Amino acid sequence: MDYEAFFSGHLDRLRAEGRYRTFAELERIVGAFPRARLHRDGRPPRDVTVWCSNDYLAMGQHPAVVEAMRGAIEAQGSGAGGTRNISGTNRLHAELERELAALHGKDAALVFTSGYVANETTLQTLGAMLPGCELYSDASNHASMIAGIRHSGAARRIFRHNDVDHLEELLAGADPATPKVVAFESVYSMDGDVSPIGEICDVAHRHGALTYLDEVHAVGMYGRRGAGVAERDGVLDKVDIVQGTLAKAFGVIGGYIAASAATVDFVRSCGAGFIFTTSLPPAIAAAALASVRHVSSHPELRVRHQERALRLKRELARVGLPVMPSATHIVPLFVGDATLCKQASDLLLDRHEIYVQPINYPTVPRGSERLRLTPTPEHGDRDMDRLVAALQDVWQTLGLGLRQAAE
Ligand SMILES: *Cc1c(COP(=O)(O)O)cnc(C)c1O
Repeated sequence: MDYEAFFSGHLDRLRAEGRYRTFAELERIVGAFPRARLHRDGRPPRDVTVWCSNDYLAMGQHPAVVEAMRGAIEAQGSGAGGTRNISGTNRLHAELERELAALHGKDAALVFTSGYVANETTLQTLGAMLPGCELYSDASNHASMIAGIRHSGAARRIFRHNDVDHLEELLAGADPATPKVVAFESVYSMDGDVSPIGEICDVAHRHGALTYLDEVHAVGMYGRRGAGVAERDGVLDKVDIVQGTLAKAFGVIGGYIAASAATVDFVRSCGAGFIFTTSLPPAIAAAALASVRHVSSHPELRVRHQERALRLKRELARVGLPVMPSATHIVPLFVGDATLCKQASDLLLDRHEIYVQPINYPTVPRGSERLRLTPTPEHGDRDMDRLVAALQDVWQTLGLGLRQAAE
């Protein structure tokens, strides 16, 4: 086989479909959030306003987080020195796990190198080790959950997105004696919609299933202490295993689960993606710990975040830009075509110094390509007004559809 021809042929097809991925090379600037410096093919760097970061609360450069990381590096150096089992468990990992368990009201927590690894490892381990296990998965679940479910080799049943009745129907048709796990998310990251956590858990438990909830786009941002939508909705105790990330609202890197002592000990003891990899550097654990503590004790961050998102949605709708319905801080703007979506993103950057990455298939279904805006507490009214004006210009230039302006 001509491997090179195969690879470049595939890439050519991606380009022809307008969904070849190009990365914006950014240089972040502490203290200037949401501004960053953009570097492109040897041209002089330009300052841009970032409107698509998952550093939802700007914690990635919060002084408490940066200081915690610097202090731990100076005290303990760079790497962890091993896997968790062989010399790589640091006091800071243990402290972070205790903090996360307390945040979610669970016995214990377990930290992984990323949220992706937390999902993949936990679901793979449960699916492979629970005898005859069946995994029930929401149709819109994230790639990391799908990977874990697939790799587990367990039977997989997909229920329609957020459809409690469909889940019930599937569960009712199964053998009551087989172990089951129902895996879903709280906030779906591309549409910004929210699942009925309590109802899904009730149905799952009626049929003897464990519940597994990905709160990656909710931790830090919902609930009184930022434990997520399950906390906000008062259903923390219905979620058997909650999964989260330290990389989005907490602004660092790493993922975790929180659950009963036995569940966590089981994954700790059997999960390959936990066992056979070097643990997070102590400085990362220190930064994440500082971030979780700060975010959970500052509810005004969550209030401001929601206010910013509401204002942006209102302003977009006011001028007729096709903002998609979203119940959360995620603000998707409908384009519906991969090439136009990329062009809109390029124009925002070239003409307006605004960076919004196009979101194309397979991240979202074909025909629903979009720009996904993520306002943070640090995006001011002027940033927002500039964004809306820039989008109006881009929409007009590309002849994209507007809606009747809402008043
Ligand atoms: C980003 C994401 C993850 C992975 O988290 P990382 O910490 O970035 O690896 C898991 N689930 C969902 C829904 C995500 O969007």
